[in-house]
Amino acid sequence: MSILQIALPVPLFGLFDYRYDPNIAPVSIGCRVRVSFGRRMLVGVVLKIQSESSLAPDKIKPIEEIIDTEPLLEAAQLHLMNWASQYYHHPIGEVIFSSMPKSYKEGHHPKEPLPRAAFQSTAVYHALNSEQKSAAEWMQKKTTFSCTLLEGVTGSGKTEIYLQLIKGRLEQGQKALVLIPEIALSPQMVERFEHHFGSQVVSFHSKMTEQKRREAWILAKKEEPIVIVGTRSSLFLPFRSLGLIIVDEEHEPSYKQTEGFRYHARDCSIFLAKYLDIPILLGSATPSLVTLHNVDQKRYAHFILTHRAGGSTLPIISCIDCRAYKINNGLSIPLQKAMKEHLAANHQVLLFLNRRGYAPTLLCRECQWMAECPRCHARYTLHQNMNRLWCHHCDKQTPIPRCCESCQSTDICAVGLGTERLEESLKEQFKETPIIRVDSDTTRLKGSLQTKLDEIHSGASAILLGTQMLAKGHHFSNVSLVAIVDVDSGLLSADYYATERMGQLIIQVAGRAGRESTKGRVLLQTTYPEHPLLQPLLKHDYPTFAKQLLAERHEAALPPFTKMAIIRAEAHNVSLCTQFLASAHLPKEWEGNIIGPLPAPLSKKAGLYRMQLLIFAPQRAALQQFINHITTQLNAHSDLKKIRWAIDVDPIDMQ
Ligand code: ADP
Ligand code: ZN
Ligand code: ZN
Repeated sequence: MSILQIALPVPLFGLFDYRYDPNIAPVSIGCRVRVSFGRRMLVGVVLKIQSESSLAPDKIKPIEEIIDTEPLLEAAQLHLMNWASQYYHHPIGEVIFSSMPKSYKEGHHPKEPLPRAAFQSTAVYHALNSEQKSAAEWMQKKTTFSCTLLEGVTGSGKTEIYLQLIKGRLEQGQKALVLIPEIALSPQMVERFEHHFGSQVVSFHSKMTEQKRREAWILAKKEEPIVIVGTRSSLFLPFRSLGLIIVDEEHEPSYKQTEGFRYHARDCSIFLAKYLDIPILLGSATPSLVTLHNVDQKRYAHFILTHRAGGSTLPIISCIDCRAYKINNGLSIPLQKAMKEHLAANHQVLLFLNRRGYAPTLLCRECQWMAECPRCHARYTLHQNMNRLWCHHCDKQTPIPRCCESCQSTDICAVGLGTERLEESLKEQFKETPIIRVDSDTTRLKGSLQTKLDEIHSGASAILLGTQMLAKGHHFSNVSLVAIVDVDSGLLSADYYATERMGQLIIQVAGRAGRESTKGRVLLQTTYPEHPLLQPLLKHDYPTFAKQLLAERHEAALPPFTKMAIIRAEAHNVSLCTQFLASAHLPKEWEGNIIGPLPAPLSKKAGLYRMQLLIFAPQRAALQQFINHITTQLNAHSDLKKIRWAIDVDPIDMQ
């Protein structure tokens, strides 16, 4: 008899022991089995085969069925998942099963995908310029692990380098993995890959059909040269003969999963590259501070592309001092004037406002009452078109009241500006101009985002108005003016990541202006035009901006200079959260620093109070030591059933 240690899709840490007779059928690590668990039958994955168990023999149940004769999961894939489960403190069973296509979770067998048509590429590759060449040659030589940052403004030819590197790997019979932040926002990227590699391109993302997911899974396991272009979860495919990983736009926050299994795909892919001993390339116009810190520490190589490959020039970035002008529905007079000029020249104008809805606040002018969500410590956002107050935190909606709930005055008004309101006022001011609004409200229907993008790509003069959805990855060739309507909200935020993101956003949207023949302009509306962090950005000098911000983080002992995690507890009763988090004792002679329990910035959400502990440690090992220590205690807490709690390792927001 052998003992199989099985990972099961349950929110519990650890593996589960089952009995099994190897003489009946062989089984190996990575195979699926069916077992009874409580009153249910579950599909599990074999992670260890042992001769003994720590459980009493009569407590160990036999396996019901061996599903796979060949492992469905690959050794390297399981190794990555095991590591990620420990690093992010998330149960291994959930890590494994959350990334598996549905039918495999249910125990169905993989089917051979149809043979793929042979592809003869007719794509012409550009002769690389000298900067591109040194980066490409360095990467081509690499056959073992190394991590390289490729920093270059939008349009500097990073993707061209990716294409040529991938071509080299495919010719050697290897695979390449290209991680991109969001598939819906980068259709051009996938098209460009397909143009070069045709049927060798396999895309993978959460919106694809179950059948396509199953196929991608099997193709990853085949010894065939393919390039997988996908979002963060494609990292967990069962790769064989992977030769190169590229993480495009490595600074993008969407690489971090913010619910459940809170992993960061860039960091996990660096682990995978190290384990497989293959090179990895991180590309960005605005690298994250953590990556730049690793470059400073000589952990990563660094190549810079200083100018645009196509020859187009960078736009001029300047501030509009909002103290000096009357602001009419979010737009200052100089901005309105500039918009008119660019529209008159038949160009497109892009306005960026990272707040959807009509207005962030509904206010009573008599008594200052503000409409708040009853379930959250947060204000309702006004959505005028839908006649709704909508809580963006818990999704609760209610009709807009006619009068103040506190003093019954009817003198209530919308305060602040969202994309819906800006669109309304633009329609009045620019009667002749089409206005294309892109945010999650206007792109809810299937295909509507594509329709809007097509409209933009037609190039006809228009005002494009959007949230961050419009700032990512698009190449809009006729946009000659970009304005960030409200720079201050990011610049002055208490969340220290918001400043990093605002800097990245300014440089990224600047990359959307004047990409082809036209000379572009970028206007930033701010009440702090002399802010020291804005000065380098006005000169497109992201490296100096990053250096200044890194110096601030160093001063404040914040990441990347310390390692950080957040433990968050939620319950109907606030003191229960506090007691719970305060119940954990520190390990002896621990060298880190704990702040809290404190209310989370969003201190109540969907009826639950939220408290958190911020954990800082000088080294990764100390951080992990503390978390391991505290999780054992918290999991044994007597009130555990009344509390929801979670750990966020390397958090990227404080919410
Ligand atoms: P990025 O990925 O940095 O935004 P791309 O690779 O998309 O930049 O390059 C921008 C444009 O310049 C593309 O149209 C690309 O085909 C072109 N390009 C890239 N490298 C070269 C080169 N060496 N010579 C001429 N054109 C190039
Ligand atoms: Zn009132
Ligand atoms: Zn709410």
